[in-house]
Amino acid sequence: MKQLTLKKTEKQIAMVFLFIAILCQMAFTSCNENDSKFKTNSYTMTNDDSTIVNKTDSEWKAQLTPEQYYVLRQKGTERPFTSKFEDHYDGGTYTCAGCGNELFKSDSKFDAGCGWPSFYEALDSTKIKTEIDKTHGMQRVEIMCAKCGGHLGHVFDDGPKPTGLRYCVNGAALDFLKRKK
Ligand SMILES: [Zn+2]
Repeated sequence: MKQLTLKKTEKQIAMVFLFIAILCQMAFTSCNENDSKFKTNSYTMTNDDSTIVNKTDSEWKAQLTPEQYYVLRQKGTERPFTSKFEDHYDGGTYTCAGCGNELFKSDSKFDAGCGWPSFYEALDSTKIKTEIDKTHGMQRVEIMCAKCGGHLGHVFDDGPKPTGLRYCVNGAALDFLKRKK
């Protein structure tokens, strides 16, 4: 009799477990539905400026010129005073040559005399990411495109007012969108 009662309890426990398992399954399924909805929403936002660009090395190589590839993807530095933007003061927006991310306004460009296009501020703080660079026996702050991770140059604290910053950028890493009149 005692054994029978136990068996009955075990059966009840098993039923409870089965019930919990079904509940979990339902919850999981609805989570998945939410997930797929979220993904759909994200997908429709692919034109958003913040969308990260992920390409393979061979895709970059096929897309970029050798100089752009050397600077953007291999963290190279172009020779000073060689950039097409050296004496370029048209009104517009400087974009990333890798992904088109808008990086600097022409209004913030100044002649630093260093041989590379220089800007005292980024178009906004989300466009560029920074990292400490300890190569070549120096400690510098590297700047990269926040969208595709392409190397742009370095930022120094010897720039003019109002920021006191100098974004020293390889011209090969940039493209230019002329302001419409
Ligand atoms: Zn980019």
